[in-house]
Amino acid sequence: MRGTELAQALLLDNIGQLATPTANWDDRAGPRRGNAMREVDIVPEAAVFCRDGEIVFAGPREEVVRRAEALVDAAQLIRFDCDAGVVIPGFCDSHTHPAFVLPRLTDFEKRIAGATYEEIALAGGGIKSSVRSVREASQAELEEQIEFAFRQMALQGTTTVEAKSGYGLDLASELKSLRAIRNVANRWAGTVYATFLGAHVVPAEYKEDRAEYVRVVCEEMLPRVAEERLADFVDVFCERGAFTESETEQIFAAAKRHRLLVRAHVGQFTAAALQRFSDYHPASFDHLDYVDEAGVDWLSAHNTVVTLVPGANFFLGQKGYPNVRRLMDAGVPLALATDYNPGTSPTLSMPFVMSLACTQMKMSPAEALVAATINGAHALCCADRKGSIQPGKDADLAVFGVDDYREIPYWIAGDLCLATVIRGELIA
Ligand SMILES: [Zn+2]
Repeated sequence: MRGTELAQALLLDNIGQLATPTANWDDRAGPRRGNAMREVDIVPEAAVFCRDGEIVFAGPREEVVRRAEALVDAAQLIRFDCDAGVVIPGFCDSHTHPAFVLPRLTDFEKRIAGATYEEIALAGGGIKSSVRSVREASQAELEEQIEFAFRQMALQGTTTVEAKSGYGLDLASELKSLRAIRNVANRWAGTVYATFLGAHVVPAEYKEDRAEYVRVVCEEMLPRVAEERLADFVDVFCERGAFTESETEQIFAAAKRHRLLVRAHVGQFTAAALQRFSDYHPASFDHLDYVDEAGVDWLSAHNTVVTLVPGANFFLGQKGYPNVRRLMDAGVPLALATDYNPGTSPTLSMPFVMSLACTQMKMSPAEALVAATINGAHALCCADRKGSIQPGKDADLAVFGVDDYREIPYWIAGDLCLATVIRGELIA
């Protein structure tokens, strides 16, 4: 827990509409799927009382105010007038790559002129160009970039963030990236889960000897990451042009030996045999533009969350998006994340991602809210503390200047977040 003092008692008063993934669900049973992905509790004229960083009461205004005033002296109670706006749980952005230095503007122009992701990568752009600048950057420069990103995220309602390394791709630069994430996490009010993504792409110097790079990841990088406790998760980009399924298994096995949880980028361009990774209980499979029937069957029977990142499809100008109905009808639990990164998804905004989910993938606003909050928390294994407005959970909330939560995805790029509460602390 950060800092010495949490805001002692905060009353979010005059809420026009409180909207949360239904509180009538036991999140220990796993992520929300099927009908539970559509269930949102709505309370008009509401209030939320938070103390010591946790939600104490949430519900009809009169009752919450009465109970809060009975517990705490008026002088000690910080009141925030939500001006009849909407309060939702803070977003859990479960997939971001903030440890980079420069935007990729040349790639941006090339893509506009018609080059594909793979053509740009072959020409030395893409991830490899970010690697060059991260290797040259100081840790302080990386921290500055990461801190900027986290602050912007909080201003748009995000309170929990997953942050990956993966633009270093050598021991020193991966450790530098993860230390930068850790240091910023210690200063930022929100909650950060760090992910080691040494297996993002095979760096140029190992082009002729991929097996050796996989060995370096497993035997040199991963043990140091674990020893310094720099990461919660290990991620692999399992894809044509990145790492094969068997290399992914090797890296997952190494992660397991070091007691780190795993997740993967998978199915962005081609379908993978997801069932191969069963033994490692991945917390999340991310992208899933391509998934075969066996993969859907496997997902519907397991608690691995599928994290969709439509910002990448949008920025790459793709016509196609993952088939949400097929996944939802099969009972696959879905989360939404920004995939914030300089090459394919330079957005920090979860409301914008919800807009894309609704307009491009035909998720309902209720499904998008559940995916952006509680199922994001499931994808980070923190749904016991985060992702819904329930007494006892962390007081992580976002206040929007609208009348109805469905307006959050409706007003595209509307920038309507008025305030964010992180563990009971108000960030206006
Ligand atoms: Zn990614």
